Amino acid sequence: MVLSKKLSRAVRERRQNIGVILRLVFCFPLGLYQMWTATKWPRLVKVGVSALVAFLILVILTPLTDPPARQVGGIRVVGDRLQVDVLGPEAPEDREIVEIYTPHRTAIVVEPTPTPEPILVYVNNGGHYYHAKECRYVTERTPAVTLAQAISANYTRCPECDAPIAVAD
Ligand SMILES: [Zn+2]
Repeated sequence: MVLSKKLSRAVRERRQNIGVILRLVFCFPLGLYQMWTATKWPRLVKVGVSALVAFLILVILTPLTDPPARQVGGIRVVGDRLQVDVLGPEAPEDREIVEIYTPHRTAIVVEPTPTPEPILVYVNNGGHYYHAKECRYVTERTPAVTLAQAISANYTRCPECDAPIAVAD
């Protein structure tokens, strides 16, 4: 009888221990409480289990409470080369093709093409030629016109002076 009583108490204790361990795993506050109050485990084991639980809580919660690591912001240049072919009408062959790579610019400034200075020639009323300013046929009263105007009025280049040559454009 005494033996069986001892045995049954041992069985009860073992069941209780298993219950406490299960509660430690699945519901640690209750498990910790029961471990300290209801078990006969050595004090060192109780302290060790408590420390382990505290450590696990810290490990689990630390990443959640830490602010996310800040990343250095900014623009990353991924390439300084043309990545795509733009389809469109072909450029005329007599034009010079300028390739522009703009890894650092945000805009291309288009400046107006400067208007060329008009070339002036001198024509006498009733004459057939247009002249340079230095020509002996040009006087103070000889009117100046643009080369284009002289050409369109059927004036031709004076053979005696260094008048500009009309370039067809
Ligand atoms: Zn002339």
